[in-house]
Amino acid sequence: VSPLRILTVRQPWAWAIIHGGKDVENRVRNLAGNYRGPIAIHAGLSCDDRGWIDKGGYHLTRRMGGTFGGATASTTGVILGVVNLTGVHHADRDALECAEAGGHDTWCSKWADPGVWHLTLSNPRPLAETIPYKGALGLRTLPDDVAALVLERVTS
Ligand SMILES: [Zn+2]
Repeated sequence: VSPLRILTVRQPWAWAIIHGGKDVENRVRNLAGNYRGPIAIHAGLSCDDRGWIDKGGYHLTRRMGGTFGGATASTTGVILGVVNLTGVHHADRDALECAEAGGHDTWCSKWADPGVWHLTLSNPRPLAETIPYKGALGLRTLPDDVAALVLERVTS
């Protein structure tokens, strides 16, 4: 069993991954390496204001309201939940489709951006109570005590 990993994501994208159906995380580099498996999603200390107004914002509007586990889409500095990292691939900057999606004008997700790495995500499980935690760069291993707390609070 691999240790639980943690990924810091700015709000409202962290919330969107756990509660809004966001199934791709766009990154300029492949920070996952060969790792596949569960990752805890941590809401970073800063927010991405574009998240409320761009194409993601459009998708978010209906499902971003409310609270869960003591947090909202604006809450920062907490672990919100766990999601499975199922794959990593790159999309060319000028591509009209994502090669992984296997068709013309097709993307692996409506959340995917061109010119970056796509971390594909599935099975988001919010924590019954979010856990305050400091941020981390890249995809880090969670300390055992925090990982145990996450697994204790994760919903199925
Ligand atoms: Zn893709």
